Amino acid sequence: MTTATLTINGQKIQAREGQTILEVATAAGIKIPTLCHHPALAPIGACRLCLVEVAQQRTLQPACTFPATHGLEVKTHSPQVEEARRFVLELLLSDHPLDCMTCERTGSCELQDLAYRYGIKQSRFPGAQHHYPLDTSNPFFIRDYNKCVLCRRCVRACQEINGVEAIGVIWRGWESKIGTAFDGTLQDSPCEFCGMCVELCPTAALHPLLGQGQGRAWEMTQVATTCPYCGVGCQFYLKVKEGRILGVASKWDAPANHGWTCVKGRFGWDFVHHPDRLTRPLIRRHKGGELEEADWDEALDLVATRLREIKDRYGPSAFAALSSAKCTNEENYVMQKFARAVMGTNNVDHCARLCHSVTVTGLATAFGSGAMTNSFDDIAQQAQIYFIIGSNTTENHPVLGMRLRQAVKQRGAKIILCDPRSIPIADYATLHIRQKPGTDIALLNGIMHVLITEDLYDKQFVAERTEGFAEFKAKILEYPPERAAAICGVPAEQIVEAAHLLATHKPGAMLYAMGITQHNTGHRNVLSCANLQMLLGNIGLPGGGVNPLRGQNNVQGACDVGGLPNVYTGYQAVTLEASRKKFEEAWGVPLSSQVGLTVTEMFSRAETGEIRALYIMGENPLLSDPDANHTEQCLRSLEFLVVQDIFLTETAALADVVLPTQSWAEKLGTFTNTERRVQFVRPAVPSPGEARPDWWIIGQIARRMGYDGLTYPSPREIMDEINRLTPSYAGITYDRIGDQGLQWPCPNPDHPGTPILHVGKFSRGLGLFSAVDWQPPAEEPDETYPFILTTGRVLYHYHTTSMTRRSAGLTAIYPAPLVEINPDDAARLGIADGQRVRLSSRRGSVEAEALVSPRTDPGVVFMAWHFAEAAANKLTIAALDPVGKIPQFKVCAIKVEAL
Ligand code: SF4
Repeated sequence: MTTATLTINGQKIQAREGQTILEVATAAGIKIPTLCHHPALAPIGACRLCLVEVAQQRTLQPACTFPATHGLEVKTHSPQVEEARRFVLELLLSDHPLDCMTCERTGSCELQDLAYRYGIKQSRFPGAQHHYPLDTSNPFFIRDYNKCVLCRRCVRACQEINGVEAIGVIWRGWESKIGTAFDGTLQDSPCEFCGMCVELCPTAALHPLLGQGQGRAWEMTQVATTCPYCGVGCQFYLKVKEGRILGVASKWDAPANHGWTCVKGRFGWDFVHHPDRLTRPLIRRHKGGELEEADWDEALDLVATRLREIKDRYGPSAFAALSSAKCTNEENYVMQKFARAVMGTNNVDHCARLCHSVTVTGLATAFGSGAMTNSFDDIAQQAQIYFIIGSNTTENHPVLGMRLRQAVKQRGAKIILCDPRSIPIADYATLHIRQKPGTDIALLNGIMHVLITEDLYDKQFVAERTEGFAEFKAKILEYPPERAAAICGVPAEQIVEAAHLLATHKPGAMLYAMGITQHNTGHRNVLSCANLQMLLGNIGLPGGGVNPLRGQNNVQGACDVGGLPNVYTGYQAVTLEASRKKFEEAWGVPLSSQVGLTVTEMFSRAETGEIRALYIMGENPLLSDPDANHTEQCLRSLEFLVVQDIFLTETAALADVVLPTQSWAEKLGTFTNTERRVQFVRPAVPSPGEARPDWWIIGQIARRMGYDGLTYPSPREIMDEINRLTPSYAGITYDRIGDQGLQWPCPNPDHPGTPILHVGKFSRGLGLFSAVDWQPPAEEPDETYPFILTTGRVLYHYHTTSMTRRSAGLTAIYPAPLVEINPDDAARLGIADGQRVRLSSRRGSVEAEALVSPRTDPGVVFMAWHFAEAAANKLTIAALDPVGKIPQFKVCAIKVEAL
């Protein structure tokens, strides 16, 4: 890289090509004041505080935009410069409230710091002043226009980070202010309340509602941790004072999000201090009685006694456990070890079964490893095209969604979106294919037909890196675009266009989520995705890959550490004698070689009496599993149900024993995000009442049952054990994880981790093409149930809402379930926007408010599954994929009635 030498304040300094004077000076320790500048944003030179003297320039120049070229002579603090800055500051302060004694930002206000540094007590320009009312119209933050210095950091955050461009500078001259189009509310704009504008505001013009008036900057400590919501795995700081969280601050060096957050990460943490938190163990002392408070000894003794009795009377297979995608790797490891080593069964599973079990089976079949192949950075920075299928990326993985928007806007990347709904990312797509729910294989086969018949595929990659092509090709030739189009209900031309776009834009990254997996053909859908990317040669390179976006914060980790019925940690099969022997030796007990039951199988076996006791850690299957009425019946059939959680969830309310545990903000451990990155979760606040760590609780029960191998001094020792037993995690130790985390496989303590899988060689050697046929969903519309119901999530809620509905802002902005129905269908059924409707399937009915919108096609109804009072899973069908045993959440037949 070319370097230049310039002189700043008489000092010779080297600069790299492309650097500005401000960057070079800052790197050299010379502090030039700024207000509009922020390293996360492109410089605009608006505030004029960074003015410097540059030799042979007629006027002072803004250091933030002036290129640091060879031979420049710069003075950063000459009398002329300092006077200019003082002048600018006085102009700003002439219209700025001097209420620093009560201002929210005192101690962290950049304007206040500059006024102090330049000794400005009073502006010499007593001109006109604004007297705007406070804007308190949204539930997350306040805008105080009187404190706005029009630096436009918020506007640029909205443009350059989030990308929705909800705000801009409106009006002109003295009337200029920041606002939405037509000066409306943020709720009526595309704003997603990610809070990046609040983070970047240098004054108190924008400040969060949560924590207001409760703490000054210097009173708070900052604890770096990882978000408890989605699989993106954003890191940020929790701002803490006296045992309470008061806010979130960006962590700009965070590897997955680089300081960006979404609304849930930024404003959705207040559930931690909600009065509903469980603080003491609860016991139902008599069947049919109420849950009553108990002390820990009584609760733990009862659980140990009942589990021992059930094991002795019915055998180990009468017990099952659910570990949790919300809990840490260490806690999941302990739970699966409890099921295997103490109860003697492999009946352990968790909600990965309901979201990505077929990703594990499908990608393991095709590539030899069932995980996301690439990393966010290479996907965001290097992909020329994104093939998004079955992923509502901006709502379900919001920070990745922001990065995709930026890739489109800032470097012209293309998006092909395949989704039955007009989801928000559709606005950025070059091509949006709205296939009928349940027709993905036909669509993918149609695209691959064009690639093969027009000779547009990567022949070298196919020849050198794959096997099974001949049989696969024969199957693909059965799907000309016209046939695929007829099945999918889309124009054949769109299928051809998609193939041409993919063939001419390399590398291309495939992103998929539950729109692909939650089908009775989920495993084969995943195989089909793998087929497409192998055909295009898009595997093993930056900007490419098959990238399943894992839903929950630690669903990847819960799978990695053995929370599955067929594998120990690192996907070592329980049926493989060598693996079993290894774990038997390490744990000191004989282990079962029989593959255990999946979540979906556990419930039906509870109904038949084969499962007598269920121990659930951090999951809420009553809302999350299909056919909820049947799930409830199954849970009520159990002899003994233990639930360990932070709230009394719908499932916990049915339990015999409820054990209060720690929230994410109270514990040490690790989460593994969707890009296989293991990151720290750190304790920031104390637990309420008598809530205890999950790993401690399980260890205490095990000890009471006569097994001491589950009592650990701390999570570090649990991770040490995972390291010893798990080749892919062997080098991911507490001493190495640090701030950047480590991506598995990381086979030894010197290994840097693996950002991209299958480089040069697939984990299984050659990539395997599979001949995949389309098959219709298990239930299709008919005369009685003429609509397809498809379910999903919304930006403001998460899973079964046990956390998000206890967050004031998230609840206020999205208080109740909505049923999206197409305007044509609504008109035919006499349904007005906002009217209550009843949805019924063969399994149950729910009622909610209608949202009449063209987002869904005629004949398709969408509903988020989060809400207990209108639980979409009362309608869904428990038809399972035969390999991954995932339920067909995405398609079931319903009828809709106006109420
Ligand atoms: Fe948390 Fe996901 Fe939002 Fe990041 S994108 S802040 S991980 S919910």
